[in-house]
Amino acid sequence: MPARPCPSCGREWGGGIACQFCSQVEGLPPGVHLSSPARRFGGYLLEGILVGVTLIVGWVIWSIVVYGRGQTPAKQLLGMRAVDLRTGEKASWGRMFVREIVAKPLVGLVSWVTLGIANFWLVWDSRNQELWDKIVGTVIVNDPHKRLLPGVESAPTPLARRDPSDVLPFPTAQPKPQPAELEPPVG
Ligand SMILES: [Zn+2]
Repeated sequence: MPARPCPSCGREWGGGIACQFCSQVEGLPPGVHLSSPARRFGGYLLEGILVGVTLIVGWVIWSIVVYGRGQTPAKQLLGMRAVDLRTGEKASWGRMFVREIVAKPLVGLVSWVTLGIANFWLVWDSRNQELWDKIVGTVIVNDPHKRLLPGVESAPTPLARRDPSDVLPFPTAQPKPQPAELEPPVG
């Protein structure tokens, strides 16, 4: 394989899907880097905290909203996003749902049998993939500037888009799942 420079940092790319020096991910806009294991584990910790402070219900509603952006609540706060390896684009709502609701519990069972070791798969994986990433074909990237959200203009938060007047001016609305209930829990 001929040597090739990284479009992001200019140094020798290496043999992986991400630059060996700066973790720029192949085929994605400059500035989109593979998330480090430390950041991923920080995300797990934050996710747990968010589940608690939102009394679970808030976290579930929040998740339903941001799955369409390839995110979970913690990933949104940390500027991380799941990318579909087959398309090179952000993971779809359905893929996120399977990742979080089906694949993670499945791996959790395996992990329970292996004393939790399976949860650390990303540490030795060349793409920093967890086993649930392997199942659904995703990698996790840092996308702090939302370069993988081409259609999102200046909407500050997903929740703000519940206001119809916020959506109507745009001729092509974002194709995203519309859960029947997005109202915040009362009380
Ligand atoms: Zn680089």
